[in-house]
Amino acid sequence: RDEHWLTLPNPHGVPAEICAGTDVPLEPAAVTEALGLLETARTLERLAEVTPGLAGTPRIARAAFTPDFHKGAGIPIGTVLDVEHALLPQAVGNDVNCGMRLEVTTLDAGRVRDRLDALERRLRHLFFEGGRRIALTPLQREALLRDGLPGLLTTGSARWPGLRPHDADDCLDRVHCAGAPVPTAEAFADWVGGASGSPDEPSHDGVIGGIGGGNHFVELQYVARVHDAAAAHAWGLVPGAVVVMVHSGSLSLGHRANATALDRLRARWPKGLPRPRNGVLPFLLDERSEPDRRRYLEAFGNAANFALGNRFFLALTMRAGLAAECGEPDARTLYDAPHNLFWRDGDRAVHRKGATPAGGHAEMAGGPYAMWGEPVIVPGSMGASSFVLRGHGAARTVASACHGAGRRVPRGAAARGGDAELDAFLREFRVVTPLDHRDPRAARRPDVMAAWRRDLKQEAPWAYKDIGPVVSGLHGGGVASPVAELRPLLTVKG
Ligand code: 5GP
Ligand code: MN
Ligand code: MN
Repeated sequence: RDEHWLTLPNPHGVPAEICAGTDVPLEPAAVTEALGLLETARTLERLAEVTPGLAGTPRIARAAFTPDFHKGAGIPIGTVLDVEHALLPQAVGNDVNCGMRLEVTTLDAGRVRDRLDALERRLRHLFFEGGRRIALTPLQREALLRDGLPGLLTTGSARWPGLRPHDADDCLDRVHCAGAPVPTAEAFADWVGGASGSPDEPSHDGVIGGIGGGNHFVELQYVARVHDAAAAHAWGLVPGAVVVMVHSGSLSLGHRANATALDRLRARWPKGLPRPRNGVLPFLLDERSEPDRRRYLEAFGNAANFALGNRFFLALTMRAGLAAECGEPDARTLYDAPHNLFWRDGDRAVHRKGATPAGGHAEMAGGPYAMWGEPVIVPGSMGASSFVLRGHGAARTVASACHGAGRRVPRGAAARGGDAELDAFLREFRVVTPLDHRDPRAARRPDVMAAWRRDLKQEAPWAYKDIGPVVSGLHGGGVASPVAELRPLLTVKG
């Protein structure tokens, strides 16, 4: 181990490193899990021996773990796998295309601070009380699932509040999974948990633009400090500017894609071949498994496309709230960064599970980020700073960085945390949830209030690692360098 990297023993020929400054705590269980994952190289070898019709040798070319990495189910959260001639659905995570979107507005923090009470009421109405006016016609739903956000914004004439002409150009379509066949309206409604629209009526099911609960959020922040003046200026991150950060995924669409893939992989596992101890089952790129793989990729594509669109709708809803209370802001998308996805290039697929791309000049060549590198969005918590960094395309992490501070305390333990701390937090920070805890009617429901407090404690600042060492770990390791520090003004929690 040196100051910024921990090299894992490499019994199967897989280069594997953890990017972690010495002041970032490492979870022993996650390290054990990371070591176990290296055995998946053996799984690939064994499976290849009994699989006819392979175009190439499946292998893990590199494994990397980001500073916020922690134990997952077989594969730690914060894992990057560069894989050739195979796909590992579990190395993407269940919430396919969970990600962070960041929009920079023309509003100043003071304008929002003056209007926090009204804004809170407005946002509760918009997000949780049916106030959203984003409806998808069946044609738009199809365009979104098949062709992603770019497809949607060039299909029909969307008339959503807050939509701007430049949105179609701003929607960066690196995530675009073209040609995914679309599930029926009924199946779609089933998966995302709402009613479907009739053939000519837009669907008002409240599903589009749902946040998704737990650690997902839509947050108003302001630029509190600039670390890299030139890049910050280029990205519009001027001191005091209000930004919108969105963290959400594909609701149940992604879970479904992964569950189906695993069912098929289990059913097809060759008799006589021992099951891998860590439970990680790969698809090889052979002819016989092609139909299963295709079905998985279609469902995966639908989920990935939906998630990108949903983050956009969440940002639109926040824009509508700001417009109503603080004056019409202009809002430009700085970036949309998926952290549960694979990126395919020929027979190679970079899998990221709870890790975010952090390309440098080379990876971003020819695009709008060639000059400064890829924007890396690292949220802290609803009571701490978040950061925007710029990627350096570090080969040791396969051009990836962490996607947050990372959980420090398991959910259960955090839920038992102190009430005094929660009250202190609530006095200092503004959280918008479906329940208004200041409403006297809420106080008459102690069971509801207790559940609300428990949920909030699980996501409280003390449940997450300190963001400072995480960011300096990325910086020191040459993975990404800080551009601006953001502080929360208000957090909407699903
Ligand atoms: P995930 O849930 O995708 O694994 O991680 C999301 C990351 O977002 C966490 O590691 C945590 O650092 C951060 N986070 C969780 N809740 C909030 C929030 O309400 N606001 C902000 N700014 N960050 C959060
Ligand atoms: Mn996530
Ligand atoms: Mn998620």
